[in-house]
Amino acid sequence: MKRFVWLLLFFLGIFPFITNEMIVAAEKSPVTNVIFMIPDGFSAAYATGYRWYKGENSIMDEMLVGMHRTYSANSIVTDSAAGGTAMATGVKTNNGMIAMSPTGERLPTILQAAKASGKKTGLVTTTTITYATPAAFASHVEDRKMEAEIAPQLLDNRVDVLLGGGRKYFPKTLLNRAKAEGYQIVTDHKGLSLKSSSDKLLGLFSEEAMSPELDRHRTKEPSLAEMTETAIQILQKDKKGFFLMVEGGQIDWAGHANDAAWAMKDIEAFEQAVERVKEFAEEDQHTLVVIAGDHNTGGISIGGYNQYAANIDFLQDIKATGQYMVTQLDKERKNSKKVLKKYANIDLTPEEERKIQVAKDPERTINQILSKRALIGWTTYEHTGVDIPVYAYGPGAERFRGLQENTDLPKKIAKLMNIPFQ
Ligand SMILES: [Zn+2]
Repeated sequence: MKRFVWLLLFFLGIFPFITNEMIVAAEKSPVTNVIFMIPDGFSAAYATGYRWYKGENSIMDEMLVGMHRTYSANSIVTDSAAGGTAMATGVKTNNGMIAMSPTGERLPTILQAAKASGKKTGLVTTTTITYATPAAFASHVEDRKMEAEIAPQLLDNRVDVLLGGGRKYFPKTLLNRAKAEGYQIVTDHKGLSLKSSSDKLLGLFSEEAMSPELDRHRTKEPSLAEMTETAIQILQKDKKGFFLMVEGGQIDWAGHANDAAWAMKDIEAFEQAVERVKEFAEEDQHTLVVIAGDHNTGGISIGGYNQYAANIDFLQDIKATGQYMVTQLDKERKNSKKVLKKYANIDLTPEEERKIQVAKDPERTINQILSKRALIGWTTYEHTGVDIPVYAYGPGAERFRGLQENTDLPKKIAKLMNIPFQ
């Protein structure tokens, strides 16, 4: 509309001195805020599966712009530490390392660059807040397992909003320090809903990782969408803008378990967070949203078992993770038929019952049985090295077009935010 008016004035000769470039420049909205969303483990195959699960396009589908390559410095198959480091620092490192180069130098992150430019910052996840992906944005350690060392570094970096699991990595001394530095601290869903007026917020909603979305109703934990919304409410108060990273961490965990229903439900929870983010970005006009998984987990495929078919609808009937169903088995695992009927609405064959009974890892056996019914294939319990879709929305979204490196993402974000980086 705006462009139309300018062009009209131009052709009427009212503003004959206005060039086309000037019109374009005036139209370009600067990027004040960035919301970087990482559905951990999410690949094109999950996107396809989720579209069938939902019965229509996902909100991410409309934002698809390109793909990115995920290999790390020392492997074709990245882990979340090297993947997160690439997406946070623009440098490929070895698997296991957090915001450090292969030779151990500390790498500046896009979150730190945004902070240095006077912006507010936030990290939101459904894993522990000290887990590889969030850690890569605001800490530097040689080994992702050093979560106790990562926790104080999140405070050293003065990240304004920290929401996720991992209470066990925040001993009393660290919580006291957080309070002294102005953080409000919340530990459950109800507490979170009351704290959107804070300036600094530390939400630790579980001892370890937060629960899968399928099992969350049995806890007092908030949803990813609720955490994301509160983070935005807090961060948007500053006119200088903000950088927020939101991780849907449970998609990866579902992939490691080869639990298709867990994955689909957590993609749904992630999509709900994307919906809130998109609403905000749409209204704000100066917010860039970038969405990209860091790698594929589980090597999931839609269809398998030598059949030209997939039965994704079946996953809608599953009401708990395989992980939870195992907790409902009795000591001798003689009640598996009842448990699987209750939580997955299937009738186990005697052969399947026996398999569960003698299984070394009954969770894997249950998930294999359910995946087979859905005709969802898996190739591994770890990650795979395929290219991953990149989605973007808002000013500069088109810059993420085509095939790029995972390290290009933070570089492009910094350029669009117009902040010094690297
Ligand atoms: Zn993983």
